[in-house]
Amino acid sequence: MATVASTTTTTDRLSSFNPATGELIATVPILTPAEVDAAVVRARTAAASWSHLSFEARTEELISFRKALAAHADELADLIHRENGKPELEALVEVMMALGHVQHAAARAETAMEPRRVSAGMLANFRATISYHPLGVVGVIGPWNYPLYTPMGSIAYALAAGNAVVWKPSELTPLVAVRVAEIARETFALPDLLQVVTGAGTTGAALAKSAVDKIAFTGSAGTGKRVMIAAAERLTPVLLELGGKDPMIVAEDADVEKAAEACVYGALTNAGQACISVERVYVAEAVHDRFVEEVVKNVRQLKTGGDDGHLGAMTSPAQVAIVRDHLDDAVAKGAVVHTGGAAAISGNYIQPTVLTNVDHHMKVMHDETFGPIIPIKRVGSLDEAVRLANDTIYGLGSSVFAGKAARTIADKLRAGMTSINSVMGFAGIPSLPFGGIGDSGFGRIHGDEGIREFTRIKSTAEQVMSIPLNMMSFRQPKDMPKRLRGMIKQLYGQGVVAKATDLFRKLRS
Ligand code: NAD
Repeated sequence: MATVASTTTTTDRLSSFNPATGELIATVPILTPAEVDAAVVRARTAAASWSHLSFEARTEELISFRKALAAHADELADLIHRENGKPELEALVEVMMALGHVQHAAARAETAMEPRRVSAGMLANFRATISYHPLGVVGVIGPWNYPLYTPMGSIAYALAAGNAVVWKPSELTPLVAVRVAEIARETFALPDLLQVVTGAGTTGAALAKSAVDKIAFTGSAGTGKRVMIAAAERLTPVLLELGGKDPMIVAEDADVEKAAEACVYGALTNAGQACISVERVYVAEAVHDRFVEEVVKNVRQLKTGGDDGHLGAMTSPAQVAIVRDHLDDAVAKGAVVHTGGAAAISGNYIQPTVLTNVDHHMKVMHDETFGPIIPIKRVGSLDEAVRLANDTIYGLGSSVFAGKAARTIADKLRAGMTSINSVMGFAGIPSLPFGGIGDSGFGRIHGDEGIREFTRIKSTAEQVMSIPLNMMSFRQPKDMPKRLRGMIKQLYGQGVVAKATDLFRKLRS
């Protein structure tokens, strides 16, 4: 297998290499902070027009964009395959899932942003309304592992909500973004509606500091913190989609064969380089050995590398080094290697590795590995499984394979998302909000919440009739303090109204 060149930068160009072959695919410019600022200025002009269009008009244009992307699906998948290293099949799945989000966001925007009447409470002469409005310009900073699907989870929803977007793709996978921006420029009536600014961390930092109205960042927790600090200068709000250390729990009444098959996919798809990869597995004592046997059997059927491989090349040598470090650390602390292992790493290819006899002193059980490793731990009870699953600074996805206790276990998991009797199911359902807690970030993409994430909320209180007692005036009767004391007692104390309200609440519950 070929040795792989790392991505290098010249003073003003960025080179994108194929991690499977080392071949230089193309170069793109490294944009300066001034060029990033200029893109934001152009985006603001586009946003002013786009935000004034009707939902229907925006939906029409987004549908044209979706169709144009679909017409270039093979080309986009090929770029993803060559830049990222993932097999062509996985690249096509990525394109399909990204298109699903464009479709969903366009279809849902009007409903998700529909103004809502809410109770006006004791100001009964008011009409109270919550409405949602576009922010303006959204800066999207993306990672390399899903170079199209992940940023599109922000881009599609931000556009559908009426914003313009400036997108900074990862320096490891800029070409797919550049192509998408070309397609956008040809499709949208406003050529600056979706722009791409290429470059490495300094270009991303410039976007975080620029005059955008929100930053949607996807990447590592370390960079996410830097983005938040940079955005704080202008008090720009941030949405952070960060890393994970997703646990899977397998109970003794689980379908072990199905759980093993799903575990192998969840841990190894994209060579384990998914933020929602299964990164650690806790299996009930009674089924542990059978589960391990099934997982090993499944893994032995997989092929790494080649046109028909299930696992492609790792995208960067830096990630290979992290995986090797985690494997060495685990083995030094007593882990048992069933398949693969550090010795089976060749260039940018890592053979899928199954580990047992693991514990939480090992990096592989608490740091994000982001590689094709399946560490499996035996647990004595479901309580122990839940305790260990929650023993993490992250909280992105999670999965549970169990019979009747599945929902109870799922509810106890401290994570943004859980799949029951499947892996990654939540990522395939565009109406489900996607995001994490803790070091996995905050805010949500996808779903109606993902649309409203790119809006500002406006509260309107409209007085629809006058009443004799006007609280918003200095002209009050002399006995007002006395009246207020009476009202406080009536409404919130021991008065008849308060008692009736409490009784009504009890009857309804
Ligand atoms: P990264 O943090 O290294 O880089 C992400 C992006 O930030 C890149 O575009 C990079 O150029 C840019 N960047 C770097 N320094 C910056 C700075 N100072 N200011 C602004 N931008 C800067 O992450 P990565 O290695 O590209 O991606 C892998 C990570 O992303 C993993 O931790 C993975 O779990 C996470 N991820 C999370 C999700 C999610 O939805 N939660 C999805 C995919 C990946």
